[in-house]
Amino acid sequence: MSAYPEIRLYIGGHWRKTAETLPILNPADETVLGQCPVATTADLDDALEAAAKGFALWSRTSPHKRAAVLLKAAALMRERQEEIAQSITREHGKPIAQARLEVIRGCEFFEWDAGEATRIYGRVIPSEPGIRYIVHHQPIGTVAAFSPWNFPMSQPCRKIAGAIASGCSIIIKAAEETPAGAVHIANALHDAGLPPGVFNLVFGVPADISSYLIPRQPVRMVAFTGSTAVGKWLTERAARVMKPVLMELGGHAPVVVCDDVDPVEAARISVIRKSRNQGQVCTSPTRFFVMKDLYKSFCTEFVERAKAIRIGNGLDPETQMGPVANDRRLAALEVLTADARAKGAKVLTGGERVGNRGYFYPVTVLADLPDDARALTEEPFGPMALINPVNSLEEAIEKANSLPFGLAAYAFTHSARNVDLLTDGVECGNLSINTLEASVAETPFGGVKESGFGREGGAEGLHQYMIVKNVSHRLEMQ
Ligand code: NAD
Repeated sequence: MSAYPEIRLYIGGHWRKTAETLPILNPADETVLGQCPVATTADLDDALEAAAKGFALWSRTSPHKRAAVLLKAAALMRERQEEIAQSITREHGKPIAQARLEVIRGCEFFEWDAGEATRIYGRVIPSEPGIRYIVHHQPIGTVAAFSPWNFPMSQPCRKIAGAIASGCSIIIKAAEETPAGAVHIANALHDAGLPPGVFNLVFGVPADISSYLIPRQPVRMVAFTGSTAVGKWLTERAARVMKPVLMELGGHAPVVVCDDVDPVEAARISVIRKSRNQGQVCTSPTRFFVMKDLYKSFCTEFVERAKAIRIGNGLDPETQMGPVANDRRLAALEVLTADARAKGAKVLTGGERVGNRGYFYPVTVLADLPDDARALTEEPFGPMALINPVNSLEEAIEKANSLPFGLAAYAFTHSARNVDLLTDGVECGNLSINTLEASVAETPFGGVKESGFGREGGAEGLHQYMIVKNVSHRLEMQ
C-alpha cells in the first residue's frame, strides 16, 4: 500500500505548506488521513502573480509544445495509476477498481485536449477585394477553477486539460475533502516540464478563496463543477466583474424504460450504474420512469440486484460500493428517505445506514413516490433510485422535463421513433440510449436550465477557454 501523499499548495512551480490546515477523513472508518493546507490571501496573491507570468509565457507557446506537456503528464499519471488510485479510494471511499478507471479517465481528458490544442482553427471570411476578415481563437487568460470531491482526479483533470491545452494559465482550488488527486496531477505536470505559473493549486475555505480570486486580475474566467446553489453564487460574483463562467452543476437524471426492452436487463444495467461512485455523480441515473407493463418485473429485478451489492471498504477488491463521501451526504439521504416514507412511498430495499462507523448507506430503492416527495425534486446525490410507473412515452418525457435540471437523461428502447421523440423532447445536455454512460472525453458534456452553462470535452471544450477575435485587414489604408 502506498503512503497517502502530503498535501501542499503548488504555486509558481513550488510546493508550499501553510500554518493552518483542515483534517482529511477516511469515509470508510472516519480516521484522519492527513491535513489539507488553508491558503492565506498572501498565498493567493502569489498564485495570481505566478498565473499572470505563466499566461504571458504559455499563451505564446506553440500548440504542439502545449500538447506534448499534457501527453507527457498523462503518460506519467498512467504509470502512477495504482498509487493515485489508492489515495483516491482512501480519501473518497470508492472501490479501488473504480478509482483505477478514474485515473485513466483523467488521462483521457488530458490526451483528448492535447489533440484538440493542435486543431484550434480560425477562419477567413470572404469579402471584397482588398480586405481580409480573419477570425482568431485566442486563450482567454487566467482561469479560476473550482473542482468538487466526487471525482478527485478526473474532475480537476477536465478543467486543467481545457485551460492548459488552450494556452491559458489556471489557479485551481480542488476539494479540501479529497485533495490527493489534484496533488498527483500537479506532480505529473511538474515532472512533465510545465513552466512555473501555468498551473497553480490551492486549497482553503471555498467561499473565501473564490470571492478573493474572482474579482482580481489576471483572472478572466471562472470554471466550476458542483451544486447549483454554489454555481449561482459564483456566477453572481463573476457577473459583477463581467467575467464569463463555465458551470457544470447538479442534475437529477431521468431514465425512461420503454415497453420494447427487456426490463430485467435494463434493471441489471441500472443497478451497476446507480451504485457507481456511491451514486455521487451529477449524471447518476435517479428518476426511473418505467412503462406500466414492465414496472413490476423491473422493480423486482432492481431490488434483487441492489440487495446483492457488496458494501465495504473500497480497498477490499471484493467491495462493489464504498461509503458515501461524508456525513453531510449520509444525513441528506436519511432525510430524503424519511420524507418519502412519511408521504407514502414504498421503501423496496435499503433506507437505513449500514453500521455506525464509516458513512455506509445501501442502494435504496423508493417506489410509487407521490409528486410531493422531496427526493423527486432534490438531487439525492447518493445511491438512491426512485421508480415510478408511466403510461406513455409522452408522459415520461413530460415528467423528465418537470424539474429545473437538465444534465443527463437516459432511455432504454430499440425503437427509432422513440429515440426521435426523446431526442427532440428531453431537455438535457446529454441523452444516452441503451447505455448509462453520459460522457467521454471526445463528446461535449454540460447542462441546460439550472444544470449549468458551457461544455467540457469534445470539439467544443477548448472554445470555453478562448475568446474570438476578428481582424479586419485592409491592404491599402483607407
Ligand atoms: P457544496 O455545493 O457545498 O460543495 C460542492 C463543491 O463546491 C465542493 O467541492 C466545495 O468545495 C465547492 N464549493 C462550495 N462552496 C464554494 C464556494 N463558495 N466557492 C467555490 N467552491 C465552493 O455541496 P457538498 O455538500 O459538498 O455537496 C453536495 C451537493 O453538491 C450535491 O447535492 C450535488 O448537487 C453537488 N455536487 C455536484 C457535483 C457535480 O459533479 N456536479 C459534484 C459534487 C457535488
